[in-house]
Amino acid sequence: MDTLQRPLKDLRLSVIDKCNFRCPYCMPKEVFGKDYPFLPHARLMSFDEMQKLARAFVALGVEKIRITGGEPLVRKNLEQLIESLARLKTPSGRDVSVSMTTNGVLLAARAQGLKDAGLERVTVSLDGLDDRVFRQMNDAGIGVKGVLDGIEAACKAGLAPVKVNTVVQKGLNDSQILPIADYFRHSGVTVRFIEYMDVGGAANWSSTSVLHSEQVRALINRRHALLPVPPQHASDTARYFRYADGGGEVGFISSVSQPFCGDCTRARISADGQLYTCLFASRSLDLRPMLGEHVAPEVLMARIANAWQRRDDQYSELRGEQYRNHGRKQYPTVRMSLVGG
Ligand code: SAM
Ligand code: SF4
Ligand code: SF4
Repeated sequence: MDTLQRPLKDLRLSVIDKCNFRCPYCMPKEVFGKDYPFLPHARLMSFDEMQKLARAFVALGVEKIRITGGEPLVRKNLEQLIESLARLKTPSGRDVSVSMTTNGVLLAARAQGLKDAGLERVTVSLDGLDDRVFRQMNDAGIGVKGVLDGIEAACKAGLAPVKVNTVVQKGLNDSQILPIADYFRHSGVTVRFIEYMDVGGAANWSSTSVLHSEQVRALINRRHALLPVPPQHASDTARYFRYADGGGEVGFISSVSQPFCGDCTRARISADGQLYTCLFASRSLDLRPMLGEHVAPEVLMARIANAWQRRDDQYSELRGEQYRNHGRKQYPTVRMSLVGG
């Protein structure tokens, strides 16, 4: 197999599209009601199929696999999948790093088992510390304490590093920026503030609801001086700053105000086996027919490599143009709960 001209380093593997939350920026209740046609169980890839897929991606250069969803911990026996993925080795013999993004609701009871299964790192989404704001954000009647307990359990289990993702939606949870930043200072947990994106599912998105990272950083900097941390990898999605007093680091993901694509090394697989080469792609490649035993791994690899070489890398820049001209979402994109961020 030829080497890929554009590196493919990260795989986001969605294991389910359902979720036990309904965040307004991902699954607004007006769209994701009781009758929403989530994937039926029969359409979800089996763990064997996911394992075959993951092996092909690792052979093509992937070093990190992030398990996501919907809510990944809603998928039964997830630890079994993690065990098999954590055994994979890169062509140069290194262990593949397996991580997960979760809303944290089911994490407290599962953190140690996940670590024992081979999970290395975890990122927990948390959009409010105030219980009233938190409940308003998830629309499932779930309080914040269980998620904070989940984060603590992940730290205790040694899932390192533990990160927190906070999507900021202007007028809804911008009051929570300083409380969240303060809560995690000196804790070893790094918070990343994310600009509210116009992904599929974000039906109510408008540019007026986006608080730019620069404003969030200035707000925190007024309370605690921040110093820039030099980027470690060109493909890093977040820019990090450290607290001048040694309180740790905080990150900003600015995919709306500072769109970038050129260094993107991430491929995404939905829970039904579709390959998306970009978060904003509206088309996908169905890999499911190639996951049975009758298809040689090399054939699967060739299909993936071909799709990756042909990918367009201008989505963010094109979107930037759209904001300037319209300020509202203009085009169909894959829903976030299908490809998992
Ligand atoms: N359910 C898990 C969770 O919430 O962490 C994993 C899947 S979720 C789709 C993955 C990430 O996407 C989360 O950190 C979430 O905050 C982020 N996300 C979802 N919709 C978003 C939006 N419209 N803009 C920015 N980030 C979004
Ligand atoms: Fe569920 Fe995660 Fe989407 Fe929130 S961001 S609705 S927790 S999948
Ligand atoms: Fe990568 Fe697409 Fe995001 Fe650009 S818009 S950084 S290509 S996922």
